[in-house]
Amino acid sequence: MGRCSSCNGVVTKQDSQCYMCGQRLPKRARVAVATKPLSPLSNVLFMGSLAFTAYCWLTPHKLPLTVSIAISGVFLALSFLDRQRSKNSGQSDKH
Ligand SMILES: [Zn+2]
Repeated sequence: MGRCSSCNGVVTKQDSQCYMCGQRLPKRARVAVATKPLSPLSNVLFMGSLAFTAYCWLTPHKLPLTVSIAISGVFLALSFLDRQRSKNSGQSDKH
């Protein structure tokens, strides 16, 4: 919610102009859309790799170091690939 700068009428973020006086509003909403958030999957994978690394350190039955490094490496690689994929899908949409 915001206020129109001309008539002080109440306007929402979605409004492109004021309903009271027709004053054009600055497009703040469009900026928020332009900044694309990271895909949830890569966040989950990244958190998964952190959680697994922590689990490996905390568990009494320690896995061999190479196995834990390999598994967290796979998590990180997947999250990296997913990040690349979401980056590419945003740019190369035209056919
Ligand atoms: Zn207005």
